[in-house]
Amino acid sequence: MDRSQGPLKGIQPSMSNPHPRQDTGAPKLELFCKLQGEAVPFIAKANIPTQFGKFTVYGFLEHKTGKEHLAIVAGEIDARKRIPVRIHSECWTGDVLGSLKCDCRQQLEAALTHVGEHGGIVLYLRQEGRGIGLLNKLKAYALQEQGMDTVEANHALGFPDDLRSYECAVEMLKFFGIHQVKLLTNNPKKIGALELAGIEVERERHQLESNPHNLRYLKTKAKKSGHLLDFEEEAL
Ligand SMILES: [Zn+2]
Repeated sequence: MDRSQGPLKGIQPSMSNPHPRQDTGAPKLELFCKLQGEAVPFIAKANIPTQFGKFTVYGFLEHKTGKEHLAIVAGEIDARKRIPVRIHSECWTGDVLGSLKCDCRQQLEAALTHVGEHGGIVLYLRQEGRGIGLLNKLKAYALQEQGMDTVEANHALGFPDDLRSYECAVEMLKFFGIHQVKLLTNNPKKIGALELAGIEVERERHQLESNPHNLRYLKTKAKKSGHLLDFEEEAL
């Protein structure tokens, strides 16, 4: 174990303690104090080799919601430089199942490939279904099968079209001391959230190829949610 890494080294169980889970002393108290003091404290990190490159995955805990967010880091982070960053919100149907109803997995894979080659960070935020959760997203999909678009379906369920927040992304970037990013995004809200927090943003277009299943979804994102997407065929 590399005990020199990370600001939470103090919470790691003592190597001399044969029953670290029974250690109820200082480490837990330290973690408790940290949780009280920080909105999104760093908890642990580990190296994970993947098909997209070698990453160090940093885990954070969002105090307010109990959600576990990840910073997937490639290469050394030199905070004096502009860092390539992708903010990706969890999409189980896309990320895990490979759903063609959205472009999330394509975007995630493109982002991991990009930072795997050039260095940088993919922030993986656990705000499924634009913040409404997986089960509500399935309900919204069911309404879309009856003809609603993604925004209309959210409204029919009593949700705004987008419940996501990027405060935790800001907190995680601050953890790394990052002030300048090359943000891979089509979403002006992400740019606005970082700029509001004093982070200088240079946008890099992050539009992937559409397919017959997600074209309407992408056009709705552009038309109703202001996403910066271009389409070759007929105007929106
Ligand atoms: Zn998706």
